[in-house]
Amino acid sequence: MSKILQLKNKIPVGILGATGMVGQRFVSLLENHPWFEVVCVAASSRSAGKLYGEAVQNRWSLKGEIPVKIGELPVFEVERDIENISKKIVFAFSALSLDKEKIREIENNYAEIGIPIVSNNSAHRWTEDVPMIIPEINPHHVELIDIQKENRGWEKGFIVVKPNCSIQSYVPVLEAVKEFGVEQVIVSTYQAISGAGKTFETWPEMEDNVIPFIPGEEEKSEDEPMKIWGKIVNGKLELATKPKISSTCIRVPVTDGHMVSVNVKFKTPPLKEEFINAVENFQNPIGELNLPSSPEKFLKYFYEDDRPQTRLDRNLENGMGISVGRLREDTILDWKFVALSHNTIRGAAGGAILVAELLTKKGYIRI
Ligand code: NAP
Repeated sequence: MSKILQLKNKIPVGILGATGMVGQRFVSLLENHPWFEVVCVAASSRSAGKLYGEAVQNRWSLKGEIPVKIGELPVFEVERDIENISKKIVFAFSALSLDKEKIREIENNYAEIGIPIVSNNSAHRWTEDVPMIIPEINPHHVELIDIQKENRGWEKGFIVVKPNCSIQSYVPVLEAVKEFGVEQVIVSTYQAISGAGKTFETWPEMEDNVIPFIPGEEEKSEDEPMKIWGKIVNGKLELATKPKISSTCIRVPVTDGHMVSVNVKFKTPPLKEEFINAVENFQNPIGELNLPSSPEKFLKYFYEDDRPQTRLDRNLENGMGISVGRLREDTILDWKFVALSHNTIRGAAGGAILVAELLTKKGYIRI
């Protein structure tokens, strides 16, 4: 029997930016969620006033059908309808894509009127008292929420973010081997087009093509891990200073799934078996919580030379697992490997849903 608790009264949730690529993932992943029920969808004035099904019918990018119940919900306007939306929901996922300053303002406005926001956007990632969480790595950073609420005088509302999709495949692996002292990392990412909110229909230039530039992505890949590995000292988050990361981010012609190639230098280099054992036996700090979206096994090592592969492995653990492979000695640093994660599930909507589940279990989100 499943150990996942079914809540008798599901928590009513809204999705801001529900019509976009990540918003659609939220809609699909939350269709039968045991704890959360989507009762409100919101987007721009271009979609507001339509039923959700009508608003996305020509741009539904997922394989399954638009969930019937959510398809019948009216789309609200994120800013104009804030009061109305806030009466219907306990918290909201933010999958907005617009000017960062505007997103910060919108997310602050919701938090201020008592609505917790779990955001996919980068707007608040460097706001000092906003935690940026990968639940399997820094679940303890939820403590920053208390500090944030105190700083702002917010009673119920708060903002939590998840990091950029590009880091989700290699940061977990480096976390697994941290006992060997990770000193320097060179990472090249091969990122799917859905990461730009696009499909081959909307971005035909990507067919048979590779673009060696993703605006802002290399800085995010190098800097965001320092916040994830930061320590809370005297009510403030001190950023980590190690490892030094150098990254190159490249857009490749695949629909979903970000692949990375990583070279690592250690203080005390592990043996090959020690590296693989650390990955395979990673102790998931939230494993005991039995969160509905938690993968059974967070990290999986593939021994085959040609794995992980995007099409074969991106849906590992319903898109929430990280696939690792090709560990071999590096001629310049110590070890090199590849890893893969699903960018719109683990890297976006699924990762945010897992954060919200953690917040629910820890009592930060409640009816
Ligand atoms: P997207 O497909 O362009 O969707 C953007 C959403 O924002 C739509 O719902 C859109 O509504 C809404 N929106 C735009 N302007 C608005 C306005 N002025 N007021 C209210 N709503 C507005 O973008 P996406 O790919 O889903 O990405 C969403 C966010 O997640 C971005 O910040 C992105 O960086 C982040 N993210 C994406 C990925 C990924 O893999 N795609 C991964 C991690 C994080 P309309 O449909 O009405 O225009």
